[in-house]
Formats: sequence, C-alpha cells, structure tokens
Amino acid sequence: RTVYVNGDYLPETEAKVSIFDRGFLMADGVYEVTSVLDGKLIDFDGHAVRLQRSLEALEMRNPISKDDLLEVHRELVRANEITEGLIYLQITRGSDGDRDFAYPAPETEPTIVLFTQNKPGLADNPVAKKGIKIISIEDIRWGRRDIKTVQLLYPSMGKMMAKKAGCDDAWMVEEGFVTEGTSNNAYIVKDNKIITRALSNDILHGITRAAVLRFANEAQMVVEERNFTIDEAQQADEAFTTSASAFVMPVVEIDGVALGDGTPGRVAPRLREIYLDEMRKAAV
Ligand code: PLP
Repeated sequence: RTVYVNGDYLPETEAKVSIFDRGFLMADGVYEVTSVLDGKLIDFDGHAVRLQRSLEALEMRNPISKDDLLEVHRELVRANEITEGLIYLQITRGSDGDRDFAYPAPETEPTIVLFTQNKPGLADNPVAKKGIKIISIEDIRWGRRDIKTVQLLYPSMGKMMAKKAGCDDAWMVEEGFVTEGTSNNAYIVKDNKIITRALSNDILHGITRAAVLRFANEAQMVVEERNFTIDEAQQADEAFTTSASAFVMPVVEIDGVALGDGTPGRVAPRLREIYLDEMRKAAV
C-alpha cells in the first residue's frame, strides 16, 4: 500500500513517525474515516468540517488545507486502486522530542497520516440484510465524546465484550440512557417514528447521522431527538446504527431480546438504500 505521512507518499513499510509523538504516548490526536464507493469519496466535506472542529477543540494546528486534503484522499484512492473501501486520516500533536503533560510549543509540527483500507462489498454487505446483535455496556468514556479523538480503548473493549457474548457490537449506556455504539450512532424505531439521542458533548456528531436524519425528514418520516433506554429499545419495532464505514446497519437483537420478528424491518433498510443512492450521487 501507498500511505501518506507528513507530505510524502510512501510504501507503508517505509513510513515512520517519532516514538515521542503525543499521539503514541498520550492518544493526543484526532481522526476521520471516509468511505469510498465507485472510487469516489462519500461526504468528504462533512468529514473535513468535523476534523477542523475536533482540532480547534484541542487547540491543535491543522497542517493541511481542505483542498490539499481532498487531493491526498484522491491520490491514495488512485495509487491503491480503491473502488470500495475506507480512508483513515489521523492528525496528532507531534512532539518536541520529549514527554511532558503540557502541550509542546504551538509551532511544533503536527503529524498527519493517511492510509486506505480496501473493502470490496462494503455497500452490498450481506450483514446488512441479516442485521446485527447488540449488547449493552456502561458508558465509562470521558466527557468530550463530540471530539473525534484516537482514545479508542474502551470502545475496543466494548467490541470485544460483544464478541465474547456472541454478538456484533455494544451500545453504551449512561445514567440509564443509551449514548451511542462503540463506533456508530444508535437509533430505535417505534410506530414509524425514528428516535435518536440529541447532539451534545455526550456523543460523536456523526456525519452519517446528519445525512440520514436529513433524508428521513425529506421522506416525511418523523424524527424525535431524545434519550431512550435499553428497555424502550427492546420494545421497539426496529433499531439501527449509522457510521461512515457501515452506513445504516439494522439491529435485530438487544441483550438477547429480538426486536419485532427478529429481522431488519422496513425503516432501516429503506434508509440504507436512500443513503447509499443519494451519497453515491453526491460523491466527489
Ligand atoms: N459514534 C462513535 C463513537 C464513532 O466512533 C463513530 C464513527 O467512528 C460514530 C458515532 C459515527 O460517526 P460517522 O457517521 O461520522 O462515522
């Protein structure tokens, strides 16, 4: 694979970053994952805007302009011949060659890394036809989940807890209410109403969430942005998750309780179809 590191395109085996980089030592960094369909970028703009927001929240310098960032994404898609897949982008605070809790001087160069993941069949994923099984776990992450940082250990632990329980993913619960999935936003559907937690510092402001809610509104579906419990989710007709890497994914079981008849239902598959159709049209 060709990867991008601090201005250079290199074979992955030749890419290097400092062991003192604060991304490595302190998880001091932010990231974005953008999907590629038909060799084009899905919602590049949404990701670029959120990246800027994450960097500003951490007082981190953006080392690349939006135009150059788009060009790097496109060049990696070209170089690695990606038709369907993902592009991972990470910016960390870099280092001044030492370890200190205080940030290094503002002129310290951030580290920017991008690489591709080839995922043939990303859109036509058979898992989306069957739906996934979810467990619930306590949300013990920090209080700024709206910043897309690389502190992903607890979400990784949650994913492993789900796997050990024979399930696919975990939804996290705080003070009795679902926050989000380990790497996705969470929704339930009851009497054709789409219910999802409102935006705050408690959840990541999903790029896919924004697009899906827009399409739902345009299709005259009712959307309620409010908290819900696992109990309410288990009594729902349907549930689903959204993320840039899995799009709209139906959920068919929560903590061992099947939703509806245990199949994906109508709303989530319909939203998946609309999302994929519309986003392919707008891809760059
Ligand atoms: N919530 C969390 C915790 C995530 O990690 C992600 C994606 O990685 C999402 C939600 C979904 O966000 P997006 O739709 O922008 O991929």
